[in-house]
Amino acid sequence: MFRLDGKNALVTGAGSGIGRAIALLFAGQGARVIVADRDAAGAAAVVAEVGAAGGAAEALQLDVSDEAEVRQAFAEVAQRGRLDILVNNAGISHVGNILETSADDWDRVMAVNARGVFLCAREGLRHMLAQQPSGGSIINIASVAGMIAVDRRFPYSASKGAVISITRSIAIDFATSGVRVNAICPGTVHTPFVEGYLARNFPDTADAVREQLHARQPIGRMGRPDEIASAALYLAADEAAFVTGACLVIDGGWTAK
Ligand code: NAD
Repeated sequence: MFRLDGKNALVTGAGSGIGRAIALLFAGQGARVIVADRDAAGAAAVVAEVGAAGGAAEALQLDVSDEAEVRQAFAEVAQRGRLDILVNNAGISHVGNILETSADDWDRVMAVNARGVFLCAREGLRHMLAQQPSGGSIINIASVAGMIAVDRRFPYSASKGAVISITRSIAIDFATSGVRVNAICPGTVHTPFVEGYLARNFPDTADAVREQLHARQPIGRMGRPDEIASAALYLAADEAAFVTGACLVIDGGWTAK
């Protein structure tokens, strides 16, 4: 079940956290993975990890918010062969309510989290439609913050709401094309993203706030990156052939309350 043998995948933001876990799992299930990240060293380290585990991967330095870079990167990927799976995972955070959000904060978060998904999905879709046989799976990593209000996540929530809408819009416009488009909405997942948030915002009380982040989810803990990767594997695989336009919530029960 859920093998990806012979498939080519590109995962953005794969140099850390959830993207790293997705790259490792996809490669372990037989995919050849392009580990794309703005952070070249992070991408190279994940490629080495995949290789050490016997998988196939290559690194690609890419800023998903830069249109020219994205066009160039996907053109090169297209020249090398098929693109079966695209995971738009790269994302950044911001803490603040609307009054604590500058226009620059808004632009910075939207540039990566929303524009980046738009640019990569557009180029990935073009390639998936043009290849023979056409088709593919696009998976966008949104967040429960795009579904419900989370305290002081104003531009982040807006960007993740956009990711959910982007997902549904493309899925419906291209429903009969063979390209499936889905989103995953994680709750809080323990990654460097979370540790960076704690270090920046709660340098003196990080341990206590980390416990609050665990407790916020009814199941009593934060998620693990591999638990999000497992969902991505399902959406990438042929077994999910009837799944498009879905937002798969993986949040330890947070949004069920
Ligand atoms: P992370 O910070 O551990 O990893 C994010 C990666 O994205 C980093 O390697 C970073 O270099 C890369 N990146 C950032 N900006 C980029 C850009 N412009 N171009 C290319 N790469 C870029 O974060 P994570 O926790 O693994 O989060 C991954 C995704 O999951 C994000 O979209 C995030 O919003 C989402 N998410 C995370 C959580 C959580 O609790 N960790 C919850 C819900 C959603």
